[in-house]
Amino acid sequence: MNAGTHNTDLLTRSACSVWHPCTQMKQHESLPLVPIARARGTWLYDFDGRRYLDAISSWWVNLFGHANPRINAALVAQLAELEHVMLAGFTHEPVVQLSERLAGLTGNTLGHCFYGSDGASATEIALKMSYHYWRNSGRSEKTGFISLTNSYHGETLGALSVTDVALFKDVYAPLLRQCAQVPSPDFRLAENGESPRAYAERCAQALERYLESHHAQTAALIVEPLVQGATGMAMYDAEYLRRARALCERFEVHLIADEIMIGFGRSGTFFAHQQADIVPDFLCLSKGITGGYLPLSVVMTTDKVYAAFYDDSVTRGFLHSHSYTGNALACRAALATLDIFRDDDVINVNRTKAAHISRVAAPLARHARVRNFRNTGMIWAFDVDTDDAEFARNFHAAALERELLLRPIGNTVYFMPPYVINDREIDMLVTRTLEILDVLFK
Ligand SMILES: *Cc1c(COP(=O)(O)O)cnc(C)c1O
Repeated sequence: MNAGTHNTDLLTRSACSVWHPCTQMKQHESLPLVPIARARGTWLYDFDGRRYLDAISSWWVNLFGHANPRINAALVAQLAELEHVMLAGFTHEPVVQLSERLAGLTGNTLGHCFYGSDGASATEIALKMSYHYWRNSGRSEKTGFISLTNSYHGETLGALSVTDVALFKDVYAPLLRQCAQVPSPDFRLAENGESPRAYAERCAQALERYLESHHAQTAALIVEPLVQGATGMAMYDAEYLRRARALCERFEVHLIADEIMIGFGRSGTFFAHQQADIVPDFLCLSKGITGGYLPLSVVMTTDKVYAAFYDDSVTRGFLHSHSYTGNALACRAALATLDIFRDDDVINVNRTKAAHISRVAAPLARHARVRNFRNTGMIWAFDVDTDDAEFARNFHAAALERELLLRPIGNTVYFMPPYVINDREIDMLVTRTLEILDVLFK
């Protein structure tokens, strides 16, 4: 079969046998799937030799490029030793090392790691642990959860309950538990003339009012620190996190930091909450944790939470489990990812690279259609002024024609490239994005 035939054949079969995520499958009648044969660095290749710059890190997971030689080598070595063993009653070197190194990265404030396989499971684990902590502490009336408006914490039923995206949530409303939403500190929602910080403070006051009347029934507040990703890269001032931390302390409510997207350097610091100089009670990590190789998530927590479960009674323990908890290959990929952070001084190198990308991308901010051009760490986003309900699809299709993988969220276009993106690729990304805007709005 020649390459072109293989492309077409794979598309037809995939649209039939594979039910793709986050997709109305019928739309693939007009917008074909993109078949990928292999990938290297920042590039994805199909069977015809067409290529796409992975400017969104394959849904925000890839940090150091595809087929990264160091992660590949670590996985090959691990395969020769141990691919997997159950983690109940058993343990292994990669999971212990990973837990110790992650704890070290929190200054050993979050010294206990509980593993899952994906982000939504991490959210579930944090919610259950928080509730169970209060129950074990004689406070079983604390069953409520608070999240921010426009938050995203995953799509299993528990995670969806604290997610605030109508499109994903409304259909399933009868299945979900009621959770409270307090105003998002997204700076775009500030009043005219109000600074992002002043707006963050105003939102913290709204949280305070909520907690004043509901703290006795509330177990936890869950937030995406600094950037609300899935609802359009909403960015906010770190002051909100400082205030939220203090309020949670005062009202005896847990703070869950969902850093599933923003952790592992995406915010510019290793963890985003570090920019507010706070420690959450629970830290959820996934996505970049394995460098984009294998599914793995973890919830990290404090000695205090851990101690509340440590008991002679079985039911006071956290009996939650997933079959692949602490998978050895995934942990090894995560360790190789952490090695790259350390050996290549990635956080500092990214600071220089981010400043360069912001300079190169500056013309986008001046485009007539562009609003709210914004940046946090290794994320850039802007909103496009258009009434076109099909904007995201049209932009995505136009990007594919120009060798770019970009997938706007509503009217928001964002770049979230692998950290290994080079200068030539950055130029290409910006130039072609400008070209797409000009073509769509000529
Ligand atoms: C992606 C994401 C999740 C869900 O992770 P999955 O692995 O897709 O289940 C949760 N929270 C945030 C902030 C995310 O970006």
